[in-house]
Amino acid sequence: MRLWRKFLDFMNMTPREGAELKDLAVFIRFLSVSYLFYFVLTSVALFASTYYVFAIIEFLCAGLFLVVFIYTYRGKTNFAMDFFGSVIVAVPTVLTLTTGWKTNFQWCLLVEILVLYFSLEINMEVKVKLFWVISLDFVLVAFFTHVFPNNLDFSRGWGIYFHVISAIFYAGIFHIIAYFYSNKFNAAEQNLRDVNNKLREMASTDTLTGLPNRRTMNEHLTMLAYNYERSNQPFAIAIADIDFFKKINDTYGHDAGDYILKSLATIFKDTMGEHGMVARWGGEEFLFVFENASGNQARGVLDSMRTQIEHSDFHYKDETITVTLTLGLEDYSIVSGVEATISKADSKLYRGKTEGRNRVVY
Ligand code: GH3
Ligand code: MG
Ligand code: MG
Repeated sequence: MRLWRKFLDFMNMTPREGAELKDLAVFIRFLSVSYLFYFVLTSVALFASTYYVFAIIEFLCAGLFLVVFIYTYRGKTNFAMDFFGSVIVAVPTVLTLTTGWKTNFQWCLLVEILVLYFSLEINMEVKVKLFWVISLDFVLVAFFTHVFPNNLDFSRGWGIYFHVISAIFYAGIFHIIAYFYSNKFNAAEQNLRDVNNKLREMASTDTLTGLPNRRTMNEHLTMLAYNYERSNQPFAIAIADIDFFKKINDTYGHDAGDYILKSLATIFKDTMGEHGMVARWGGEEFLFVFENASGNQARGVLDSMRTQIEHSDFHYKDETITVTLTLGLEDYSIVSGVEATISKADSKLYRGKTEGRNRVVY
């Protein structure tokens, strides 16, 4: 088991060219090792059947797969791919013509068609051209093996060994290819899903504060209004606006202003917790929605939050900044709808500003 792990680690080593070529390098390694075993094991059968010349040729060809294998560790993955492709086309063509269709070497040509399409380094036009070349070769091999048959005679009993090894090899090689294609496919799909999630998150969140943005809040309010219609679940809407925020920017700088916005957003989020949702509505305005709650309940929560902020010191660099908020609060009413409820909350906020700020107007 540990040996198997070590073998897998070795096969999965990142090639010297870097991570982009890793899939391809590992793919070629598994294929070349399989081919190496296939050629060595079948050459034993040829040897035992006294086809010494073919046995030696096959054995030497097995060495070519070792070369391919080594090249994937030497920073020459693309070369290894081309070399491997050439070997599994040229060698089976010659072997099939000289040993006959029944030895099954010709199927390597079809394997190469599948292998060829795996690499992202080769462009599609080249792939299709190579496909035609290999196919033509395949048809010619089929034609000539029947016109000039050269079938080996395995009557001494090694035929079954030869064929079983071939069957295991082709099953294995098709499994390896399918496995790598499916991994690549799944990885691409996962990647797409991650990017989509990231985009969705970016589209729904305010980048500075990390709070939901106005769009997300609007969608949420539509949903709450719908629920209200169906099951009478009440909710209340509040708008908060920072008092004299322009002065904070002017006195301490825009970055300090941003820092205040972020700090307040954290307090807002903590305060809302299970009560509902808070979003950045605009520049220094925030919209709160209290779900399944009356305006009176919301007022209590907002007022204690307002007091907490009023008594907090915010430290930015060497400065200590204090800040207050004014809020307008309104119960949602089905007669007014969402937009008018927000407008009413906004009017109350304005009234709070004119009456001296730092208060919740309900
Ligand atoms: P009031 O008490 O009447 O609300 O006074 P105010 O100064 O807060 O109101 P005003 O609307 O005049 O100023 C709001 C300021 O908020 C102006 C704008 O530059 C600032 N602001 C808006 N968005 C951002 C932001 O993302 N970062 C920073 N630092 N400032 C912002
Ligand atoms: Mg404002
Ligand atoms: Mg303001």
